[in-house]
Amino acid sequence: MPDIPVWNKCDNLCVMCANTAGFARNTSRDYLLPAQARRLERHLRGGAAYRKNARTAGAWNLTGGEPTLNPDLLKLLAYFRRRLPGARLTLLSNGRRFADPAFAAAVCAAAGRPFSVAVSLHGPGPALHDSVTGVKGSFARTVAGLKNLFALPRPPEVELRVILHRLNYRSLGAVLAFLRRVFPGRDYRVVVMHYESEGRGAGNAARLAVPLSATAARVNAAARALLSFPEARLYHFPLCLLKPPLRPLAAVSLPPEDRVYPGPCRGCALRPACVGLMRPYFRAFGASELEGPV
Ligand code: SF4
Repeated sequence: MPDIPVWNKCDNLCVMCANTAGFARNTSRDYLLPAQARRLERHLRGGAAYRKNARTAGAWNLTGGEPTLNPDLLKLLAYFRRRLPGARLTLLSNGRRFADPAFAAAVCAAAGRPFSVAVSLHGPGPALHDSVTGVKGSFARTVAGLKNLFALPRPPEVELRVILHRLNYRSLGAVLAFLRRVFPGRDYRVVVMHYESEGRGAGNAARLAVPLSATAARVNAAARALLSFPEARLYHFPLCLLKPPLRPLAAVSLPPEDRVYPGPCRGCALRPACVGLMRPYFRAFGASELEGPV
């Protein structure tokens, strides 16, 4: 299902953000209810309304910028739910606005069911998280927002994302320990992914670039912790870089046009279930890290 950009501005300035500066400069009128409703209706009639994942299976991903900053968000969620009964809506958010418990409750009520909220955590504490988001105090608000979501009488499904790049990949174990400590017994999904070099992230390549073999080594070192969560997923990792017990957690997390299977993948038995390499990553790093065929 399509990625629907719900708002084009954000109150974080994440160093690895996949959006370009030009996206935030678009007029915000294009993201208010009337324009969004026109796009959804065009899509439902079979027209070309959305750029990413327009006809793939899965959830309707409500992205940004930061969707919770859209002043029409509640009306928009109610509209989507009315027009998409039974469809899964997933809101990708930095979680900060959910620090207001009334707002957290209103969003979940407007979205109905099934509804998921995916929030990224960039470190195990404010020093690292806030240095990645570029906003002092963002860690505290994101964690407060998550607590409010979990405290709702009927909480949404929650996905906690850890996006690894050079600034934070060494802290993966500490982030997972933080999640276990602060959200014990909660039923959420953990997603660990290697960052995608796009938008602002591509512009910051000199600060962010790290080989997949290095991030995968941290993921492998955290295998026990990852497997202890009720649900964990790994995005953008070639299967041959992961320990066998972790391979079932890995998803083919990108559309075909965004991935490549270079020379070492020829004849690899794992290929049908493997994401291969992200295209921009292959251009920057080549394929020498791959261990296939497996
Ligand atoms: S060799 Fe290629 S297809 Fe096989 S596991 Fe590695 S990346 Fe995937």
